Amino acid sequence: MSQKPTYQRVLLKASGEALMGEQGFGIDVAVADRIAADIAEAHTMGVEVGVVVGGGNIFRGVAVASKGGDRVTGDHMGMLATVINALALATSLRKLGVATEVLSAIAMPEICQSFSQRAALHHLEKGRVVIFAGGTGNPFFTTDSAAALRAAEMGAQAIFKGTQVDGIYSDDPKTNPQAERYETLTHDEVLEKGLAVMDVAAVALARENAIPIIVFSIHEKGGFTAILNGAGRATVVND
Ligand code: UDP
Repeated sequence: MSQKPTYQRVLLKASGEALMGEQGFGIDVAVADRIAADIAEAHTMGVEVGVVVGGGNIFRGVAVASKGGDRVTGDHMGMLATVINALALATSLRKLGVATEVLSAIAMPEICQSFSQRAALHHLEKGRVVIFAGGTGNPFFTTDSAAALRAAEMGAQAIFKGTQVDGIYSDDPKTNPQAERYETLTHDEVLEKGLAVMDVAAVALARENAIPIIVFSIHEKGGFTAILNGAGRATVVND
């Protein structure tokens, strides 16, 4: 039975850690293929999907800074890691026959197109999945902030933040069984309670632009599309 999806245009944030699977580093292709299958299903439902991928499975800028190196260079390395992940996810989507374009915040024309809002909207309107690589293109930011930024630029109706668990908890539920799970929160509550779901800049940008954040488990097969169909399990952050 087909029904109209809850949202027509969304931004999915997948951390680098999500692509790593059970490995300690890098990309587990089977996991990338599985996440791509969920995106493909959303695409088949007629939902326009933009994806921001992290890079933490390969490199984080703080790793350089913590050993006395230059943070900016470290962040450049982290942003390049997100490009590697974007190419991997694009490969998984194309294997499924989904037209996919990678747009990078850092120009590397031999590898992929450069990001511009016009290019992003053009590809979405043509029915392509757009993967945003390179974060915001600036050091000292995160791919969570990139997700909020790109969501605002593409006019996304929601940010889907894929995490390791099925929503926002008062503490890490993997280490604290007493952690409380929230069904709904406002952007202000996320900030006031200091809940570690997205960084402050990302939540503030989503709040300024009235974009809901839907936090769900990226590892739940079909979880993304279940929410798009008005079901599924998630914490909804909205005002
Ligand atoms: N990064 C950056 N600017 C951005 C986005 C990312 O400098 O706009 C760098 C930063 O070093 C970060 C790394 O890229 O540690 C990987 O991104 P992130 O930590 O957000 O990835 P995730 O945790 O989602 O895997």
